[in-house]
Amino acid sequence: MQQEVNILVVEDDSAAASSLESALKSAGYQVWLANSPQEGLTMLGSGSFPVIITELRSPKMNGIQFTREAHKISSAVNILVLTPYSFIGSAIEAMEAGAYGYITKPLNSSEIRIVVERAVERFFLLSTSDDKDYLVDLAIRDGLTGLFNRRYFNELINIEVKRLSRSPASLSLLMLDIDNFKNYNDTKGHPAGDDLLKGVAKVLKSSVRSVDMICRYGGEEFIIISPQTDKSAAQIIAERIRVQIGLFLPTTVSIGISTFPDDAREAEPLIKKADNALYQAKQTGKNKWCVAS
Ligand code: GH3
Ligand code: MG
Ligand code: MG
Repeated sequence: MQQEVNILVVEDDSAAASSLESALKSAGYQVWLANSPQEGLTMLGSGSFPVIITELRSPKMNGIQFTREAHKISSAVNILVLTPYSFIGSAIEAMEAGAYGYITKPLNSSEIRIVVERAVERFFLLSTSDDKDYLVDLAIRDGLTGLFNRRYFNELINIEVKRLSRSPASLSLLMLDIDNFKNYNDTKGHPAGDDLLKGVAKVLKSSVRSVDMICRYGGEEFIIISPQTDKSAAQIIAERIRVQIGLFLPTTVSIGISTFPDDAREAEPLIKKADNALYQAKQTGKNKWCVAS
């Protein structure tokens, strides 16, 4: 690594702090340790840190509060929260508040390396631009709906699948497409179509769990990464979404479901399987969900 990259670790558990420190140092990073969120924020104010890795369980400040405070000091810093895999809900909530990603406990050095490398890359990519605040957000979010965008989805799913390769947990993808949206645009107008897209985003947010990551995949296509969700649980989520959309919005959606590891163990074929299942839902009548076969 040509340039020295500073990583700030906020962790009061000294065993975890030192194992993070050694994983990061062996990957070539300069590591700084803070014992508390408050100390972390003070250090952030006095140095240049592309990435902060922080524990969530501090009684004084949770991950969401920490993320907000840190971004007031540096809008460009990428925050990664530490969490046991069974508690990733709070990490995803911190991501909704602007954290960039998370690292699961027990710590694994290859996961640390992958996640931190992405976050560092992103920092340097964006630091060359003039309009940082705008781009920092645009890099991961869709401007119309505020959901994660397709590029960020691709990062998320690849990291999730890597994480799963060393865990017995499952994960499902739900790919959604609005039915007859072209007709809706043609009859109601494009601005009304945009409102419908925003409405779908809102219903999705209220229909899924806090661990689920919702992304706008394309024009009127959405994709949800649902960790710790097997095939039968995914069908329950899909049915809830289908019903909620039908109740609250003047449209319907079709959904394709694929599940790790049943349908595929890699990101790309898993996405393809969800897409095929979505196609099947469209072909067999729309306003329904199908599972990958
Ligand atoms: P199907 O039920 O088979 O999915 O048919 P469809 O009409 O929904 O699908 P099609 O792919 O034919 O049309 C998608 C439409 O989505 C066409 C495009 O104009 C519209 N669209 C894509 N992005 C946006 C957007 O950001 N805003 C609006 N208003 N419309 C969009
Ligand atoms: Mg479509
Ligand atoms: Mg459509």
